[in-house]
This record gives sequence, C-alpha cells and structure tokens, in this order.
Amino acid sequence: MKQCLAAIAAMQLCALSSLGADAAAGAAHPLWALAQSRADAHRFSTLFTAQDVRDSLGSDADIDRAIDWCFENGVTRVYIEAYRGAYRAERATLLHAKERFLAKGFLVSGCVTTTQVGKRSTGWSEEISCYTDQPTQERLQSIFEYAAGLFDEIMIDDFYFTECACPECDAARKARVAVVGEGRYPVGGDSWSDYRRELMLRVSTERVLGPARRVNPRVRIIIKYPNWHDRFAQRGYDVAAETAAFDRTWVGTETRDFNDPRWGGLPAYGGYFIMRWLGGIGGDKCGGGWFDSLGTTPHTYVEQARQTVLGGARESMLFSYGGLQRGPGPDDLAALRAAMPELLTVAGQVASHRAVGVAAYNPPNSQPLDEALVFDFAGMLGLPLAPCHRFPANDPAAVFSEQALSDPDLPGELAEFVRSGRPTLVTDGLAARLKGRVDLDAPNVQVLAVNAKPRSLLQRDQPGLDATRRPLLAALHTTFRAPNGVALYLFSSNSWVVENFNDQPAAVELNGEPMTIEARGWKYQWR
Ligand SMILES: [Zn+2]
Repeated sequence: MKQCLAAIAAMQLCALSSLGADAAAGAAHPLWALAQSRADAHRFSTLFTAQDVRDSLGSDADIDRAIDWCFENGVTRVYIEAYRGAYRAERATLLHAKERFLAKGFLVSGCVTTTQVGKRSTGWSEEISCYTDQPTQERLQSIFEYAAGLFDEIMIDDFYFTECACPECDAARKARVAVVGEGRYPVGGDSWSDYRRELMLRVSTERVLGPARRVNPRVRIIIKYPNWHDRFAQRGYDVAAETAAFDRTWVGTETRDFNDPRWGGLPAYGGYFIMRWLGGIGGDKCGGGWFDSLGTTPHTYVEQARQTVLGGARESMLFSYGGLQRGPGPDDLAALRAAMPELLTVAGQVASHRAVGVAAYNPPNSQPLDEALVFDFAGMLGLPLAPCHRFPANDPAAVFSEQALSDPDLPGELAEFVRSGRPTLVTDGLAARLKGRVDLDAPNVQVLAVNAKPRSLLQRDQPGLDATRRPLLAALHTTFRAPNGVALYLFSSNSWVVENFNDQPAAVELNGEPMTIEARGWKYQWR
C-alpha cells in the first residue's frame, strides 16, 4: 500500500485499482484532498452551464480536462446544467458527464437557468419571460420535468423572476388573480409586487416543484436568490413564501469590484449581509453562496469568498467552468487556490461560533424606497451588523432604515425599542417618514445621514464614524477605531474578524489593542 502511494504519480493504474478514485485523486491533488477532508465545514463547487456541457463535456477527453481542472482548484462538487438561454443540453451528454464525475468521487447536481423560456418580458432583458403566458408556463414545466428525470437535485439560477408589464400581466394584476395552469389564485393587493410574487409562487408550486416531483420523487429543488436583494419583491422573488416552498435556497454573493464600470456598484460587505440575511430566513435549507469573476480582480474575487464564508455559507459555488477559463478567471482562481486552506479553516471557526452584532432589520419583501442596499454600505463603516428578518426585539442595539416600513407593526415595536434605552441608529429617511408617529427624540437614538444616497456613507469622515459606532459598540462591549472601508465582524466567545477593503494598510484599534491590517487584508481571533 505504502509503495503504491509513493508511486502514484507515475503509476495511476496502481492507484486507481488498489485505492479507489478518491484516494488516488487526493495523493495527486493535495488541494482537492484537503477540500474533500474539510467539506463538512465548507465546500467549493462549480457549474457547467448548458453551453459548457455542449462545448466542454462532449467527449471523454474534454471530461478528463474538466475533472483535472476541478482537482486542481479544490472543487469537489459540480452542477451540470440542463437548460439555459433557449438551449437544452443533450440527455446522453448530461448523463455520461454525471456518471464520470460520480465515479471520480464528486458530488453531482443539476441546474436550470430560466432564460429565454418563452414569451419575452417587456422589461430590461430579452432573457426574462412573461409567466402570465400559459405556453411559457408549459415550456417551463417541460424544462423541469426533463431536468428532474436526470438529477436528484436541481439548482435554479437567479433569472427566475419577472418584471413583465405586458397587457396580459397588467390585466391579471388589476383583476388580482394569478392564473397558473388550471388554478386561479387570488392576489393580496394590486401592486406589481403583489401580483408577481403570487404569480411566481404559484408557478413554482404548480409548474416547477409539483411536476418535477412527479417525475422524480427524490428530487430537491434549490432556489438561488440574486445579489440584488432590495428589488426581490418588485420582481416577484418572495423570500418568505418561496423559501418555504422550495427544498433548499442559495445566495448570490457576487459583489465583484465596486469600481468596475459594468459590474460595479455593490460594496463588498453586501456579500456578508445577504448571506446572513437569507441564511437567517432559510435556516437549514440555506445551502451556500454563489459568486463569479465578472468585473473582479484577484483581490475582490477572494473578498467575495471571504464574505461568503464569514456569512456562514456551507458551500461556495464558483460560477462557472466556462466563465472561469476567460478574462480575470484564471488569475482569480490562482488567488483563490492560495487562499483556500485558510478559508476552509475560517469556515470551520465560523461554523462553531455564533455571529453577533448590531441588529440590521430587513423584513422579507421590504421595499428599499430611497435607501437601496443601505445595510451593505453601513457595514463598510465598521458597524458589525447582525442582519435579521424579524423585528429585533431582544437585541442589544439595532439599526433601522426605510426597509423596516414594510413591517406594519414597526411604529409600536420601534417606540418600545427606543423606550428600553438601547442604542438605536435610525436613517434620516426613516426618521422623516416616522415623524409624528414615533418619538425618536431620545438620547439613545442617533440619526444616520444617508440623504437618500446610501453610497455616500463611504465618504463619512473619521469623527462621524467614531460617533456613530461608539454607543452601538458599547452595547456589545467593544471599542473600535478604524478608517472607513474597514469592516468588523463579531462572533461568540469574544471572537472577531477585521477586514480592510481599502488599497492602503489600515491602522486599527480594537478593544484598545492597536494593529495594522494590510491593504485588502484581514485579521481574526477565534476563542
Ligand atoms: Zn406579461
């Protein structure tokens, strides 16, 4: 056995015959072996889009190349996609690739991307469909019946929404009835959000989940939510009802590079915020995060991985095999490979600690009003946020924004929170909208100047940062001095993480202890 192991690189046949595929791969690919051994804490996976299946999994030689790529990059699970962009991958190709990956010790799931399903939506992209249209519903159903015949688990990529406002959608909205198949489902209100959420929920149960389970009773379907969480309700993603309906959930943590002209605009902390927020809603159903290399640098790519891991994800889905061969992909992956052992260790620590912090209240199906992504930006100020979807009645400190207005009980709950004397941060927009309804004139209430421009928080000066943080952190028995763009994450047992998103080193003082965080670096202490 020992001799065989030593000779593995030269004698693959010996390894395969006597040790099995897993051990053989482990000896030849130490990162993959490490990733496999730590998969209980965190796993890295990738997606072969339907076009990747056609172009890169069509022959055994291509599949060998793809398997080697996964070995090299610590990827231990693959999603093999059946449909995307009006293209349906071939059954024989999907099944053969699935068998080959399974034989090499990978976990294998399927995927569907609901782009160009049928009647085109009136909205921003030709990729999106009108799901009021019955033939489109039928086509959607047939796609999931096909995929469910091939895989026991199917991820749905984040184009599963609608912003169609065609005459048929508009008539159904005004009539307040979603017609899905034979069913007629009453809609709670006459807004687009009300109609689209009811429509997509019923399309999910009647056209996706039901038909897929009839084809394959073992099938589990994962709904992946996009990174644009403040627009979910408007476009028909109902994170409460759909999370309850689906078997599992997934989270888009692809913040990319804030300054990228095409893909930028999302602050890096947003990956942490959405991961924790949807993780709280999904509980055990929440499987992991998903990020890509679009508009990234190796630094920002690894930052996405860190936010995903710190956010408590059990898996990072690296979109996608084809995409990562191009553009920034190869350099990003080199950086991720170097970071992977540390990320796996941190993931283990995150899993064994509880995240704590200043409650950041975002009810499901909230409307952003003038403060879209305000928490994603607030986290960049070094406020250790604890995102939550229920009113944080028992938390030691909290921040509230216009999103909280979606909670009809907010005025009473917030007044009670303020009366308790706990540190309370309220955005100027929310304070203005609650004027005359909630008395916010109390010494424990601070008003955060957002001026309807959440990104302006990134310009907040040092005295402003210090003043905002001090009382909130005091409630968490913490003191923190740091420039803007340095995030703080607190965990149980006084454990902490500090991450510097600036291109310069940051002088930081945490609980009286000075330290320097290198540019784009992080430090942590687990107790
Ligand atoms: Zn329509």
